[in-house]
Order: sequence, then structure tokens, then C-alpha cells
Amino acid sequence: MAKPNLCQSCGMPMKVPSEYGTEKDGTPSEKFCHYCYQNGKWVQPDLTFDEFYAFSLKKFQESDMNRIEKFFLNKMYTKKFLKKLERWR
Ligand SMILES: [Zn+2]
Repeated sequence: MAKPNLCQSCGMPMKVPSEYGTEKDGTPSEKFCHYCYQNGKWVQPDLTFDEFYAFSLKKFQESDMNRIEKFFLNKMYTKKFLKKLERWR
């Protein structure tokens, strides 16, 4: 695989199996990460788009990215980007 799959809910690149969410029967989800999707359900089904965006941005900013990655994150991780993902179309 040349490109990591992006979670189709929050946009996180999923590189290792533990970052993938799970379906109801416990199989890994191909589309969503484990922060968003577990056991076939959204982890936070009640968040609005705006709330979800703010939550995800904070999650990425608090992760162990280096400064350069965070610089690009702040430029790229926009509402426009999030709206293109399958969950928010
Ligand atoms: Zn996600």
C-alpha cells in the first residue's frame, strides 16, 4: 500500500491495525479509526459537525506529532477537508 487509509470520519491516517475501528462482529473496519468507530457504532454519535471538528483538531494537536507535522496539520485540517470525508458528505 502506497498511501495509508484515511479514516472517513475524522481523517486520521491509519497505519497499523490497532488504529482501525471495529465492526459489530469484531472484524476491523476498513474505513474508520478506533477513535471514531467501535463495535459497529460511532464512539460519539451525538456530536455535531462543528463539535466533531473541534474535538478532532484538539486530538491531533495533543498527539505526538512533531512541530512540522503540526504545522501542516493546522494548515490542512480544515472544515472543508473534513466535509469531504464519507461520514460528513
Ligand atoms: Zn476517525
